[in-house]
Amino acid sequence: MSETLVRPHDRAARFDAIVVGAGFAGMYMLHRLRVSGFTARVLEAGGDVGGTWYWNRYPGARCDVESLEYSYSFCPEITREWSWSERYAAQPEILRYAGYVADRLNLREDIRFGTRVTGAVYDEDDGCWTVTTEHGAPLRARFLITAVGCLSAANVPDLPGLGSFEGRWYHTGRWPHEGVDFTGERVAVVGTGSSGIQLIPAVAEQAAHVTVFQRTPNFSTPAVNGPLDPARERWFKDNRDALARRARTSPGGFLIEYGERSALEVSPEERLAEFERRWSRGGVGFLAAFSDLLLSEEANRTAADFVRDKIRSIVTDRATAERLVPTGYSIGLKRLCLDTGYYAVYNRPDVTLVDLRETPITEIVPNGIRTAGETFDVDAVVFATGYDAITGALLAMDIRGRGGRRLRDAWAAGPSSYLGLMSAGFPNLFTITGPGSPSVLTNMIVSIEQHVEWIAACLADLERAFGPRALIEAEAGAEAAWMDHVRELAEFTLYGRAESWYSGANIAGKPRTFLPYAGGVGNYRAMCDRVAARGYEGFLRTALPEGA
Ligand SMILES: Cc1cc2nc3c(=O)[nH]c(=O)nc-3n(C[C@H](O)[C@H](O)[C@H](O)COP(=O)(O)OP(=O)(O)OC[C@H]3O[C@@H](n4cnc5c(N)ncnc54)[C@H](O)[C@@H]3O)c2cc1C
Repeated sequence: MSETLVRPHDRAARFDAIVVGAGFAGMYMLHRLRVSGFTARVLEAGGDVGGTWYWNRYPGARCDVESLEYSYSFCPEITREWSWSERYAAQPEILRYAGYVADRLNLREDIRFGTRVTGAVYDEDDGCWTVTTEHGAPLRARFLITAVGCLSAANVPDLPGLGSFEGRWYHTGRWPHEGVDFTGERVAVVGTGSSGIQLIPAVAEQAAHVTVFQRTPNFSTPAVNGPLDPARERWFKDNRDALARRARTSPGGFLIEYGERSALEVSPEERLAEFERRWSRGGVGFLAAFSDLLLSEEANRTAADFVRDKIRSIVTDRATAERLVPTGYSIGLKRLCLDTGYYAVYNRPDVTLVDLRETPITEIVPNGIRTAGETFDVDAVVFATGYDAITGALLAMDIRGRGGRRLRDAWAAGPSSYLGLMSAGFPNLFTITGPGSPSVLTNMIVSIEQHVEWIAACLADLERAFGPRALIEAEAGAEAAWMDHVRELAEFTLYGRAESWYSGANIAGKPRTFLPYAGGVGNYRAMCDRVAARGYEGFLRTALPEGA
């Protein structure tokens, strides 16, 4: 058996490493740390493993990267033993997968659940982090690794009167474990991003009436979900290693066909046929139909117009169709959604669309939602309003580095990191899928595995070179150069123009800066590997002096 059965380490309050979060990132990090012989403790706010899939239990929740690809690749036994039932698994199945991995690797023994980390302070005298939690005594560790998730800090809009609402309200990312029965109810859904687009058709099946409050229409393409083809599963499992290598060196970490031609160099008929082929196949490959859809506005417009025409052809009421058609921004600059029957749901007589650009919400009243136009009586409100993405969960903790400097202050004008992994002034603190890394633009499992493996190798190299008092920290100059590079890539692509959660635009007062690295997972991995091969170029590595 490969490294799957590793004994849990002793449970002293001082560890080599503390990991915050037990989603897919924290789980794998724990495993890698154990394999390298480090003692580790994971602290998780939720009641079990799974992260996103523990919290997002809303109807319709499922992955939009194919399940075969949205799976760990590091363990042949897990690949062999686990089978997915659908092309895109629903949340309960993904949560079962996380639980299965946790059992298989004995992970839970080193995870403390129901433990929210409130802060962490770096002690310059002994090079350790002291981590405080909502309950219990502080814990100490040489290395602090955040695996808190890019999409885990729920954003509930600050609407006047919400406290007076006499019905029930929910956020998709904090869904009750016992489920919610909307049968016969009038339900308001606020928000039409990825979660709303998944949830609305599922709630419409149950509720007496659904009123959707839309601020910005989003582009969505069909998932074309269905039972997983056994032949495809066999092929995938037989070729897992080669496919994982292909994903790791690809732009997005997806095993899709990346079009190599410009959308503008082919005839209109050819272009249409290619968009049509990808639309009917379903999945995230639509935006990869041509090489320049995220580089040229003109090329992008061809894809955007194709989807706009599709919306008009699906939605029968003309006024509703026009409200659903995204205008004024390029496709892909807000996360492209995948749906099952989203646009068609508006053909139902029991689903109404309210355009908040025409009639904004003014307040929540005891019996419903009041807009500038009218009052909608509802029994329940679902906020599908997303997250304070990428930095929200990190900055919710009071992290203090050298000289007591708060991460919140260091990042007041926007996050700053070297490779999205470390920040100057915060020694031995790593962020998995942190700002400045490819993260949310990619198949997250591929990005998580890359970060975890890089960090584990980095710690092992560090300890070999500098012993148990080793320190590593990003150099300020390397960090500044990296952030320039991240900005340059955002400007080179269309992403620099994004007005979305990618750039903090959904959160009032959040600094506007394009948060992920837009150069692709393959290039990014090569750079991280080059940095390591050159003796961790751009990082200061040293040992804390004896007696300090
Ligand atoms: C509805 C939804 C669908 C998605 N679908 C896809 C998809 O199809 N493909 C894809 O690639 N990505 C998808 N994502 C992104 C998804 O978040 C990642 O794929 C992946 O699950 C992230 O894993 P993680 O471990 O980094 O973070 P998470 O899964 O978010 O886990 C972070 C954990 O940290 C915990 N935590 C946070 N702060 C603290 C604290 N202070 N103290 C203690 N614990 C803390 C949280 O409770 C959480 O359990 C989706 C996200 C959402 C919300």
